[in-house]
Amino acid sequence: MDSQIHKIHQQLADKKISCAALVQQKLTALKENTNNTVNSLLDDLALQLAVKVDAKIAKGESIGLLEGIPFGIKDVYMVQGTYTTASSNLLKNYKSAYTATAIQKLLDAGAIPIVKENCDSFGHGSSSENTIFGAVKNANNPDLVGGGSSGGSAVNVAKDYTVFSIGGDTGGSVRQPAGYNHVYGLKPTYGRISRYGLMAYASSTDCVGPIAKSVEDIRIVLNVMSGKDIKDQTTYASAEISKDSISNSEGIKTIGYFKNFIENDAIDSKIKADFLATIEKIKAKGIEVKELDFFKSDILVSTYYTLAMAETASNLSRLDGSNYGNRIEDKNLKESYAITRSENFSEETKRRIVGGNQVLSQGFSDEIYLKGLTLRDAISENFEKDFKEVDIILSPVTPGTPPKIGDSLKDPHAMYLSDAYTVGFSLGQLPTLTIPQGTETGLQITAAKNNDELVLKFANFLKDMI
Ligand code: GLN
Repeated sequence: MDSQIHKIHQQLADKKISCAALVQQKLTALKENTNNTVNSLLDDLALQLAVKVDAKIAKGESIGLLEGIPFGIKDVYMVQGTYTTASSNLLKNYKSAYTATAIQKLLDAGAIPIVKENCDSFGHGSSSENTIFGAVKNANNPDLVGGGSSGGSAVNVAKDYTVFSIGGDTGGSVRQPAGYNHVYGLKPTYGRISRYGLMAYASSTDCVGPIAKSVEDIRIVLNVMSGKDIKDQTTYASAEISKDSISNSEGIKTIGYFKNFIENDAIDSKIKADFLATIEKIKAKGIEVKELDFFKSDILVSTYYTLAMAETASNLSRLDGSNYGNRIEDKNLKESYAITRSENFSEETKRRIVGGNQVLSQGFSDEIYLKGLTLRDAISENFEKDFKEVDIILSPVTPGTPPKIGDSLKDPHAMYLSDAYTVGFSLGQLPTLTIPQGTETGLQITAAKNNDELVLKFANFLKDMI
């Protein structure tokens, strides 16, 4: 697929379509959609902005590449004056007081936000069923899940309801739904894009991530959102990625894949066969392919969930109904906190808060939480060693195909295990992109820290090759 952003930009600039008509058409499609992708529409704001873009074009002024391009936002980003619910009962009526840095940069570039998108509550999930707005249905088969947690965002892009969407990825939430719905989804290097105004799940792995239909659109949106932000001390300055610099595969000589991801009972046999067929095609192009050793999937999943639960228990402790959210009064303050949280958080979110507080508690933290941190260091060292030998690590996105709606809710443990291939790269804070090729749920391309450019470069190479 070619760049949708360039195509629509040209149509607007040539007055082939008006921005107001474009935005209206997308809003109508979103309103009528039966995939449950919408938490709230930003119709008034979007149409006001569209009229301004049209006025500019009518005056003969030139417009920027993103000016007038309609996009979606996972409902965990602050956009001043809009509902930001995290798909939860607790924040059902909460309106943002300020705007997230990443979103503000897109607004400054003239892009038009049209929808706050359905997702797993607070990012907790892999299917977008943990939501008060109804399970998100897969773009290709409505009996299957949309993936999660950024399911609404991926489905909106797949269905062309948005030109691109901004998801959030803590342990795979951009990459996995992108794979389930056959679109591109990038988790950039941790810190490349500011997290300010993204509702915190696990702060040490949370990343802002674009979802789109082409590598070029991912590049454009990534460039706009990247950069150091004094409001997020983990951010760093990065160089812009040019179109030319990623147009050929020069510099990619060796790639690797994790043997144990593929030689594993849990992997779907078709995903395995398709992955290995892709490896053969890559070898045929003269690229060396190395088999790498890595931690077992269950170690990755348990390390990730130990740390993610600890961080989310801590981050969500502020949501007690005093400052934010639907407060339920009871006989005293303590009881009010308890009933507000027990009535308004979902089962899955409560499972994580209880689990997280357990691993952080005295008597357990040394044995569980600190062990998790030690394992995380070992995982990062493993990656550092690997990237001395290979330029890129290629892997499937998921061991299986999207489950039927309802199945993941019955078996949370199976749902956690379905994250086996995405969470390791999150712990390593590495740049990883899902491409909609290679297997039924796509492929993940990963490079060393700060090497997002190489990831996009290899994606362009595979686009023309597979
Ligand atoms: N499925 C993973 C989890 O539930 C990842 C979610 C995410 O990246 N927000 O933690």
